[in-house]
Amino acid sequence: MDRYYVLGNPVEHSKSPYIHRFFADSLNDELSYESRLVPLDAFEQTVRQLMKENFSGCNITVPFKEQAYRIADVLTPRADLAGAVNTLKYDDGRLVGDNTDGEGLVQDLQRCDVSIEGARILVLGAGGAARGIIAPVLARKPSELVIANRTVSKAESLAEYMSSVAECDVRGMGFDVLSGRFDLIINATSSSITNVVPPLPEGVIDSSSCAYDLMYAPVDTVFVAYAKSKGAKAWDGLGMLVSQAAESYLLWRGVKPQTEELIMKLRREMQK
Ligand code: NAP
Repeated sequence: MDRYYVLGNPVEHSKSPYIHRFFADSLNDELSYESRLVPLDAFEQTVRQLMKENFSGCNITVPFKEQAYRIADVLTPRADLAGAVNTLKYDDGRLVGDNTDGEGLVQDLQRCDVSIEGARILVLGAGGAARGIIAPVLARKPSELVIANRTVSKAESLAEYMSSVAECDVRGMGFDVLSGRFDLIINATSSSITNVVPPLPEGVIDSSSCAYDLMYAPVDTVFVAYAKSKGAKAWDGLGMLVSQAAESYLLWRGVKPQTEELIMKLRREMQK
């Protein structure tokens, strides 16, 4: 039977085994999927061992996505741009590295009926998640994309880097100099974990904006709650989580699982 894993540290919180087993069951596909806690200094060693055991692939979570990028033999263009890998496929003796986070976000925005084409988009944060989502968002042709980050230099250099694949204006800046309203505000900071909303000037989000927090939780995250308090439509990242997993499944198995039912099921279970 083909064997898959999620590798991380910590990893016990990961919903990936549940999600991939659900996909496999719904498609009558036979595979095994387990989580594996990897010692912080033993990521490459663990993957090499799995290769000897002829595993089929794995998802990578915190803090190993950059290491996975470095050990992949072949990178998909989106993983190359992201500088991080969340999916490895072991194929014909080679490790293929992909990054499905951005496509997962874009597909979940589609599910939520949020359009990117022609939109003025603000991405909050310039860390690993922001790096992963920006190129797939740019590929859907927004009119403008602004990256705002607490450490301004990181926003500026990420904007310069992403400009190479953009057909629109991409700029990086601090939160304090943001101006005008945005159609879509994507929170790719980790600030919701500590119940903090990035310091956005008045007028950035209004009742005709859409907002998306990459973090997800059983109740509205502080960012989702803040956006709703401005009258905006807002979603958390649960749908992205399921959609990025569906993209990994497609890379591994050549078939794309349905996501809608699982997103609703996970939401119900989280809220119990
Ligand atoms: P990261 O690389 O550590 O980057 C963290 C980012 O958050 C940096 O830009 C940092 O700014 C900013 N930040 C942290 N605390 C802040 C605060 N109090 N105020 C303003 N900015 C703050 O983390 P990451 O890997 O990009 O992950 C970011 C979030 O995305 C996490 O919540 C993660 O769970 C989520 N995520 C979700 C999915 C999904 O499928 N739903 C997938 C991937 C990631 P500085 O540069 O100034 O430090």
